[in-house]
Amino acid sequence: MTEVVVIGGGPAGLSAALFTAKNGLETTVFDTDGTWMHKAHLFNYPGIGSVDGSNLLDTMREQVDDFGVDRNQGVKVTDVAATDDGFEVTTEEDSHDASYVVLATGANRDLAEGLECAFTDEEIVDVDVTMETSVEDVYATGGMVRAEEWQAVISAGDGAAAALNILTKEKGEHYHDFDVPSDAEAVFGSMIDEE
Ligand SMILES: Cc1cc2nc3c(=O)[nH]c(=O)nc-3n(C[C@H](O)[C@H](O)[C@H](O)COP(=O)(O)OP(=O)(O)OC[C@H]3O[C@@H](n4cnc5c(N)ncnc54)[C@H](O)[C@@H]3O)c2cc1C
Repeated sequence: MTEVVVIGGGPAGLSAALFTAKNGLETTVFDTDGTWMHKAHLFNYPGIGSVDGSNLLDTMREQVDDFGVDRNQGVKVTDVAATDDGFEVTTEEDSHDASYVVLATGANRDLAEGLECAFTDEEIVDVDVTMETSVEDVYATGGMVRAEEWQAVISAGDGAAAALNILTKEKGEHYHDFDVPSDAEAVFGSMIDEE
C-alpha cells in the first residue's frame, strides 16, 4: 500500500509530495499536466525575483524526484473510494491503495464530490487549517478550497500544511520539517555557496 497518493502535480500537489517523501513516507503523484503554471510568469513567488511558471514547475518536479516520489505524468485519476483500511485510487490504467489522499486538482472538485467531502455555501471544499476535509485522511489543497484568491505560493503552502498534518498523524507528535546549515553541508557538500 502506498502511504500517500497525491492527485495533481501543480504547486499544491508537488509541495505536499515534497514534504511527505522528504520525511520518509512512500508517496505517489498522478498528474495530467494541465496546471495553470504553464500560463504564468511569476514575480510574486517569495524568494524568487522573476520566473517562468513552467520553469518553476520543472524545479519543483526535480525536487520531488530527488526525494524519491513516484511521479506519474499524464495519468488521470478517475475515482477515489474509501475502503476498510484506507482508499482505492483508480486511474485510467490501474488502481492503487493508499492510507492518505491529497487532492490537488486545481479548481476541479469532482474527486472531492465523489468522496462526499463536505462543501461550503460557496461550493468549495470545506477544510480546516490542516487542509483535512470532512473525510478523515483526505486532504484538499489549492484552487479547490478557494472561490478565487488563487496564487501559486498559497497552493504550495496548502500542500505543505496537509503533508505536515499527515506526518503528525504518522509520527505521533506535532511535526515540523526544520533543517539547519549542517544538513545542507551533509547533502550538498562543496556545492554550497560560500559567502
Ligand atoms: C494566466 C495565468 C497567470 C497566472 N499568474 C500567476 C502569478 O503571477 N503568480 C501566482 O502566484 N499565480 C499565478 N497564477 C495562478 C497559479 O498558476 C495557480 O494559483 C496555481 O497553479 C494553482 O496551483 P494548484 O496546485 O492549486 O493547481 P494547478 O496548478 O491547477 O494544478 C492542478 C493539477 O492537477 C491536475 N489534475 C486535475 N485533475 C486531475 C486528475 N483527475 N488526475 C490527475 N491530475 C489531475 C491538473 O492537470 C494540474 O496539473 C496564474 C494563473 C494563470 C491562468
